[in-house]
Amino acid sequence: MEERDRLLAERAATELRVAALEREFAGIAAAAEGSNGDDEHDPEGATVGFERAQVSALLERSRARVAEVDAALARLGSAAYGVCASCGRPIPPERLEARPTATRCVPCGGG
Ligand SMILES: [Zn+2]
Repeated sequence: MEERDRLLAERAATELRVAALEREFAGIAAAAEGSNGDDEHDPEGATVGFERAQVSALLERSRARVAEVDAALARLGSAAYGVCASCGRPIPPERLEARPTATRCVPCGGG
């Protein structure tokens, strides 16, 4: 099944991304510890805080993406897959091809 392959490929890629971001986050934390950072008075400390917040946001988004892909994989093969969660109409195949994790049709706001 093609969608399944696409979803599994996306899941693998997203998990690699999560792992890379986790390493990056750990690296920033280690650098911050070594620099005797004082977030309020040390300008470098503030930069580290900003970087951590950015990586943390990316990490959260990537983890949410893995969960989305998992949910799509769970729906795949069931009657719920490819059906809009809002209006109950079938989601067009072109849209599922572009976005296999879609739970809504375009008029209902995508997702
Ligand atoms: Zn809809």
